[in-house]
Amino acid sequence: MNASKTDGPLLVATDLTKTYGSTPALEGASLRVHAGEVLALMGPSGSGKSTLLHCLAGIVAPDSGRVSYAGDDLSAMSDTRRSALRRTDFGFVFQFGQLVPELTCRENVALPLRLAGVRRREANRRAAELMEHLEVADVTDKRPGETSGGQGQRVAVARALVTDPRVIFADEPTGALDSLNGERVMQLFITAARQTGAAVVLVTHEPRVAAYSDREAVVRDGRVRVPEQVR
Ligand code: ADP
Ligand code: MG
Repeated sequence: MNASKTDGPLLVATDLTKTYGSTPALEGASLRVHAGEVLALMGPSGSGKSTLLHCLAGIVAPDSGRVSYAGDDLSAMSDTRRSALRRTDFGFVFQFGQLVPELTCRENVALPLRLAGVRRREANRRAAELMEHLEVADVTDKRPGETSGGQGQRVAVARALVTDPRVIFADEPTGALDSLNGERVMQLFITAARQTGAAVVLVTHEPRVAAYSDREAVVRDGRVRVPEQVR
């Protein structure tokens, strides 16, 4: 998709609501995300951060409100188109990496490329190159269970970056890491934002991690309190 057709924000969430049973998760959440910025979503546990991230990424459909990406309404797209968009334009890092245990680390990193139709040899080459850059080349042929938490999370970051996504979504990506590895992960996101113009939306409850972002928004009771753009 051509994200440059709009000069405005890349992602716009407007008045999102989402209720699970009788539990409200989002109650009128609105947010704008610009290309090239690292945005930290802060807020207490249960405030709706993960639900908001999933709605922004088109993984969860809001009950009402809308999310548009590069000017296109996510909920108006077919499931096929939305899935394709997630594969080509979005990258994800989850709290505990969620790598596929049966695959080697290199196969995990190459997976999004393979799903996008890139040939095995080329996908493996790009995966190996990125893993070298992230200093996890030594776990290339290991399975995720054989790596340390810090290595596994960097492999998960490599998997999220390997397709050069326009948006990187990360849900507490440093939650399981010590401060050195947390800092390394944040540096990778910042580099992606600076070098490729990717937008990074990351959930964290650690002020130390949020300090790396360009902008912080606080989620509370299913709503977003946003200081307006810094840029
Ligand atoms: P956060 O990420 O800020 O901790 P969540 O978005 O995960 O918050 O959750 C917001 C609220 O929605 C919480 O009360 C949570 O229990 C509820 N919730 C989230 N996902 C589900 C789900 N799949 N099923 C039921 N309740 C959920
Ligand atoms: Mg969460």
